[in-house]
Amino acid sequence: MSSQENAGSPADELRWKKFPVLDDGFVCLVDVMGDDSSVVQAARVSYGAGTKKVSDDRTLIRYLLRHRHTTPFEMAEIKLLVRVPMDCWRQWIRHRTASVNEYSTRYSLAIDAAQRTAPGEWRTQAAGNRQGSEGVLPEEVGRELSRQEEELQDEIREVYQHRIAVGVAREQARKDLPLSTYTEAYWKVDLHNLLHFLALRMDHHAQLEIRRYATTIGEQIVRPLFPVVWEAFLDYRMKALFLTRLDTEVIQRLAASGDAVPWSEDAFLAAQDPAWQGLQRCRERDECRDKLQRLGLMESAS
Ligand SMILES: Cc1cc2nc3c(=O)[nH]c(=O)nc-3n(C[C@H](O)[C@H](O)[C@H](O)COP(=O)(O)OP(=O)(O)OC[C@H]3O[C@@H](n4cnc5c(N)ncnc54)[C@H](O)[C@@H]3O)c2cc1C
Repeated sequence: MSSQENAGSPADELRWKKFPVLDDGFVCLVDVMGDDSSVVQAARVSYGAGTKKVSDDRTLIRYLLRHRHTTPFEMAEIKLLVRVPMDCWRQWIRHRTASVNEYSTRYSLAIDAAQRTAPGEWRTQAAGNRQGSEGVLPEEVGRELSRQEEELQDEIREVYQHRIAVGVAREQARKDLPLSTYTEAYWKVDLHNLLHFLALRMDHHAQLEIRRYATTIGEQIVRPLFPVVWEAFLDYRMKALFLTRLDTEVIQRLAASGDAVPWSEDAFLAAQDPAWQGLQRCRERDECRDKLQRLGLMESAS
């Protein structure tokens, strides 16, 4: 990977700068290949040189992202060093299109840090989404949970250190370390797959912890390195609204009904897709309602 060598370039200013995430994690840029112009350069092989004004570059990048072109964005690459708790890393590592080298706890002692949760940060189980959380437990309950967590982590760390002291191999001594233990890894990925990772992991459906990492990578690293791509990514992915055939037909039925905007819940239910009728719970219907609320076509739930 060749580096951007100009002193004062965004890459030079960012390289090895640690952006803290959670209580003891970080992300930092190790190296980058390319910038906005690499995307343009690759695309112009296909589309012809044309004029090369900056405004045209921006238009081209936005066109490519809007129309889901992929390979021009694969021409740029980013290498990060990340420090992440194991439970979060387990989600992260599912993204198979990156190259990874991880700290080895067979070879070295496990990193002596585990992620801890502050008393005010114990989240409650979401009622509507089995994978999610919503709200936090009262502080006094949180204080007890945080105390227990500290005790548990300290005890496990002592057991681990005892195993090492009496000669147990590192590869076996680590087996009872908690998922909150931090790991470190080099993570290299092209810009297309990085944006895919960010779209999934900055989304509100993703777990808060990995969302914090993704948001830090996006805002602190990708934005300054690829400002035009980042702007297009926000416009056409993160802040875009995807309408399915069913959503579109609900809107068409509501518009044809003559009811005034904002449409009521009753009007929405009358116009819902036939497949949703009679279902007490229907995630797709909820998502459709949510889109109409975002568009200001229905009142938001209080
Ligand atoms: C909110 C959320 C909840 C999740 N819940 C669960 C869960 O409950 N259980 C669970 O197991 N996982 C879960 N996942 C993980 C998810 O299913 C994906 O494995 C993960 O997000 C990686 O996405 P990806 O495969 O698109 O990314 P990458 O692995 O980076 O791949 C990028 C793209 O490359 C292509 N690709 C890569 N490898 C292959 C291949 N072998 N064959 C064909 N195409 C390939 C695909 O188009 C893919 O989208 C969840 C993810 C999110 C964001």
